[in-house]
Amino acid sequence: ERVELASMLTTICDQFADSGHPIDYVGPQRLVVACRPRAVDRAVTNLVDNATKYAPHVRLVLSQEEGVVCIEVQDDGPGIPDDEKPRVVKPFYRSDPARQEVRGFGLGLAIVSSIVQAEGGTLALLDNAPRGLRARITLPVS
Ligand code: ATP
Ligand code: MG
Repeated sequence: ERVELASMLTTICDQFADSGHPIDYVGPQRLVVACRPRAVDRAVTNLVDNATKYAPHVRLVLSQEEGVVCIEVQDDGPGIPDDEKPRVVKPFYRSDPARQEVRGFGLGLAIVSSIVQAEGGTLALLDNAPRGLRARITLPVS
């Protein structure tokens, strides 16, 4: 199956904007990859859902590198400390009490991680300077 990522990502932005979370899309007008559309949509939606829960400003950035496309959800929230990064992708793990004031089961990132692996891609959690999280999905180009 093939996915045109630019229109998928702008549609996700529109959906979040409709529920009161305007998100900027940064990237090309068109970029096609061989992946299951529903899998990619679900993974990105989970990451954007987190970002809008934990941060005031969110950007969705699409780019192409050698052999992979890169989808990044960048926010300016509290971020995730390096020592917690390996744990947050496990089922049911949620971070410190302040963050637990926000509703959730701790399943989103575990789901994203397994979806992305099933598509032959990767999930990386990086720091977004000067503050926040950069959740990066890579997918093979074809
Ligand atoms: P669910 O996704 O099941 O509704 P959740 O959002 O708490 O619940 P995950 O998406 O798996 O669960 O995220 C795990 C934990 O990682 C969160 O509880 C939060 O502590 C931390 N986290 C996830 N995304 C962010 C983010 N963008 N900024 C800061 N912390 C985050
Ligand atoms: Mg979540």
